[in-house]
Amino acid sequence: MKTIIEPFKIKSIEPIKFTTKEERAKILEDAGYNPFLIHSDDVLIDLLTDSGTSAMSSKQWAGIMDGDEAYAGSKSFYRFESMVKKITGHKFIIPTHQGRAAEKIIFSITGGPGKFFPNNTHFDTTRANIEFTGAEAVDLLNEIGKHPEQRADFKGNMDVDALEDFIKKVGRENIPFVMLTVTNNSGGGQPVSMQNIKDVRKICDRYELPLFLDACRFAENAYFIKKREKGYENKSILEICQEMFSYSDGATMSAKKDALVNIGGFLSLNDETLAMNCRNLLIVTEGFPTYGGLAGRDLEAVAQGLDEVLDEHYLQYRIRSIEYLGEKLLNGGVPIIEPPGGHAVYIDAKRFLPNIKPEQYPGQSIVCELYIEGGIRAVEIGSVMFGKKDKKTGKFIPAMMELVRLAIPRRVYTQSHIDYVAEVCLEVYNNRKKLKGYEIIYEAPMLRHFTARFKPL
Ligand SMILES: *Cc1c(COP(=O)(O)O)cnc(C)c1O
Repeated sequence: MKTIIEPFKIKSIEPIKFTTKEERAKILEDAGYNPFLIHSDDVLIDLLTDSGTSAMSSKQWAGIMDGDEAYAGSKSFYRFESMVKKITGHKFIIPTHQGRAAEKIIFSITGGPGKFFPNNTHFDTTRANIEFTGAEAVDLLNEIGKHPEQRADFKGNMDVDALEDFIKKVGRENIPFVMLTVTNNSGGGQPVSMQNIKDVRKICDRYELPLFLDACRFAENAYFIKKREKGYENKSILEICQEMFSYSDGATMSAKKDALVNIGGFLSLNDETLAMNCRNLLIVTEGFPTYGGLAGRDLEAVAQGLDEVLDEHYLQYRIRSIEYLGEKLLNGGVPIIEPPGGHAVYIDAKRFLPNIKPEQYPGQSIVCELYIEGGIRAVEIGSVMFGKKDKKTGKFIPAMMELVRLAIPRRVYTQSHIDYVAEVCLEVYNNRKKLKGYEIIYEAPMLRHFTARFKPL
């Protein structure tokens, strides 16, 4: 097979700044060894997140100029609405400024103390918005999804038996709806199969529960279904997306992912009363229902992005570029979550640095070294992010996994950028015996990873 090339040419470029290794060591020290505190100007390749970091197309930029900024009834809203309806089939489309704003609205209305929301794995803002109302967010991931070294096609699937047991245990009247996150971001960007969506739907029907999709990466999920699930190889991506959403009653979406824009989101629903309540809250917190916290130009760019993300050449390039980086790391012996998911490669820091204990943050050590060695910014997803201290004994409780995420922004980097990233990762891996652990010298009471400061041991 020939090389899978970037399915676009470059019309506008943004130079990246080169620094020396000595400069980077100083920059990192000044930032308290926390890459969140580095100025992005000082980063060569930024793999901190795939959220809101997409490159927009010339047509999206044309849409930015063409956006209709009318307060009410903007033509850009109607274009946005018809595109979202075409993909989801949902009846009521509510724009929001990003994914968590859609979550805030739907969970404020349906959540509250005594309520439970099952999901394959809740994303952190989803969990936070549920818990903020006093309700409980419950993860029911399939067993295979919990084993980073085991390969399977659909490691994002929900454990359907566990879902039924859970409904029986807490009672259907205490579950406002069931959720499925496609792809499963917190579980490594692993896809959910159509069969699993159908099976979850069946359980929902049995107990008369609505099903919602957390749809941030719906198109990447659809591409995995096309490639891996029997019966879908000849269907178009749009057809697969439409089938996925056809089993759902609503969706929350961060357009900063698969809508290929820098800001935006939506909530889509079939229930008219619920939609009315959501719109009323939207008016208080986000804005009038035909703009919902966005400018008309943003809605225009989302509509165009949703069209472009369905292009199979784009998705082939997208998924392949992640897989390609994964292969290069595996060939060099670097342990990663297998197989790579749709938007990121996750390095397994426990196997990478077996000599550094979780309380000395092996993931942070790799993140720091990637920056010093090659100016690459990644993020630790391990005990810095999720580790805790026992309230009584003060004993350290580590995270379930120690990971380093290399998230790939959409349409931003070329194959040679990715080759460079792999070279730097291998260099760090080959020098792993020299890496040291870290200790935290400052932490905020909540979400400490954003602002913590470290000291090398
Ligand atoms: C990013 C994300 C969200 C939240 O969206 P924001 O636009 O960042 O508010 C919710 N769920 C998943 C799965 C996500 O990846």
